[in-house]
Amino acid sequence: RSKDEGGGKHYTFEPSLHASAEERRQLEFALRSALEREELVLNFQPVVDAQRECVVSFEALVRWNSPEHGFVSPGKFIPLAEDTRLIVPIGEWVLQEACRQAMKWPDDIRVAVNVSGEQLLDPNFSASVVNALSASGLPPHRLEIEVTESIFVRDDSTARSTLEQIMALGCGVALDDFGTGYSSLGYLRKMRFSTIKVDRSFVQGAAVNNPESLAIIRAVVAMADSLEMSTTAEGVETEDELQMVRELGCKKIQGFYYSRPMPAKDAEELFAGRPLDSGAVA
Ligand code: C2E
Ligand code: MG
Ligand code: MG
Ligand code: MG
Repeated sequence: RSKDEGGGKHYTFEPSLHASAEERRQLEFALRSALEREELVLNFQPVVDAQRECVVSFEALVRWNSPEHGFVSPGKFIPLAEDTRLIVPIGEWVLQEACRQAMKWPDDIRVAVNVSGEQLLDPNFSASVVNALSASGLPPHRLEIEVTESIFVRDDSTARSTLEQIMALGCGVALDDFGTGYSSLGYLRKMRFSTIKVDRSFVQGAAVNNPESLAIIRAVVAMADSLEMSTTAEGVETEDELQMVRELGCKKIQGFYYSRPMPAKDAEELFAGRPLDSGAVA
């Protein structure tokens, strides 16, 4: 966001990165009523076991279809929701809805829910996780919370103790987009993440045999293995990328190669004919 050097009367924005102030104001206005007007829906993207090639979980990804603004991408409205703290009620709804949907899948399939720093700093956050679990009946081990490194920058101790409460319930905590943030390894020593998600940028570099990307993925997998954390390769789009991340030892695969995020109904139908109580543990 750069101040216009000219008259200083107005501000210019990088169009690809920032909505204009007016557009942003209108989006915020619309977002305030999106929940009650039931304009938000969840899509679910399968996460596949790298060896067995079967679905082990889904990541819940929120979608907003606004009558005024059309389809608005989460890359645009999530930051707005964070700035305005609307992410707290929106995030609560996401948790409830994700747990409710997961109850329709076989009992060895988990659900992953993205959680922003703003939510973790909210004193009621762990209570809302407990509520979502008890309202749906979902066992805690079937829920994984996804957080990014950025949450450890601002208020390390509050975020950590909230995550520890969530882990004490039996939920998993995944470290999302690993390698793009501040990447201090200190918190890996303090927090038992269930999964490290290797950011898409490394995966897509690996396919073109970028030696730096390969080395980084290899190192992240080795580190995760010795810390007894699982690894997910994000953003796998091609056969080449799939081969590469499998060879590098990533345990789980997520990306358009297998599937784009899909409506809840389609996720449910993947298991048509499979008993809900399969007895298997992934
Ligand atoms: P994320 O948590 O890293 O989610 C993965 C994003 O990568 C999703 O984008 C997904 O559609 C996209 N993706 C998956 N596979 C591929 C692939 O093979 N190629 C490419 N190019 N992209 C792929 P989406 O749904 O647009 O979400 C963007 C971000 O918005 C998410 O990144 C997450 O940080 C945030 N977000 C989404 N839903 C929620 C939510 O319910 N709560 C919060 N707090 N944040 C959310
Ligand atoms: Mg995520
Ligand atoms: Mg991610
Ligand atoms: Mg992301």
